[in-house]
Amino acid sequence: MILGCHLSLAEGYAAMGERIGELGGNTFQFFTKNPRGRTPNRPPDPEDVRGLAERMAGGEVILPVAHAPYTYNPCALKPEVREYTRDSMRAELTFLEALPGTLYNFHPGSHVGQGAEEGCRIVAAMLEQVLWPGMGTPVLLETMAGKGTEIGRDFGELARIIGQVDPALRENLGVTLDTCHIHDAGYDLSDFDGVLREFDAVIGLDRLRAVHLNDSLNERGAHKDRHAKIGEGHIGAEILRGIAHHPLLTGVPKILETPNDEEGYAREICMLKERKTQ
Ligand code: FE
Ligand code: FE
Ligand code: ZN
Repeated sequence: MILGCHLSLAEGYAAMGERIGELGGNTFQFFTKNPRGRTPNRPPDPEDVRGLAERMAGGEVILPVAHAPYTYNPCALKPEVREYTRDSMRAELTFLEALPGTLYNFHPGSHVGQGAEEGCRIVAAMLEQVLWPGMGTPVLLETMAGKGTEIGRDFGELARIIGQVDPALRENLGVTLDTCHIHDAGYDLSDFDGVLREFDAVIGLDRLRAVHLNDSLNERGAHKDRHAKIGEGHIGAEILRGIAHHPLLTGVPKILETPNDEEGYAREICMLKERKTQ
């Protein structure tokens, strides 16, 4: 099982690689920079990156996920926000070539009144500007709760984006399935096999490259996006443990983004690793 949690980049790349082992996990996620800020892009210290790359080469850390900041929006009305998003993603994907085996996850953004169809077209056009043939890092679109004008509120919108990207670049694209978000979007996780069948029919299961394992504070279909600790929300521990152990997802990293400190994450990792009882 590839399981871990969100970690802070504050102490650097090598430190995250070490910390996740101490917490009982073998993968993790980090924000490429302050998730709510507009900090400039600066490449990380190569020595520090090498420290993590060595743990990845040794198999201690598998498929870590770099999460783009929330301030990116490819569909923003302001051209400078669109440009900042495009330039930042390109810069981040360029430095991630130094960490082969890393995944890159981003929120498709909000269409802010332009309509989902136009939003999907704009996201696809931006992806064509930031992807390049032969790049090493898979770029994952995250499934969203459908809060406000968020794009990616159902599998169809993500398929629409991917389908509009040049086929030569499309092979670099995948999807992150966030359990809280799809529950809030209206998918019934008590029939997770059914959800996977739908994912396969609409997007293709080979594109499912990462899972965000979160409980949800809200009822199914609430379109809210408020994460809960495992077992303290409307999805429940049994369903989430079943997803963690799902045979079709063995090679997919599962990342906790629950409201926890590191100690809480360690407890959830331990609890989820336990074999399903019934
Ligand atoms: Fe996210
Ligand atoms: Fe998420
Ligand atoms: Zn969320």
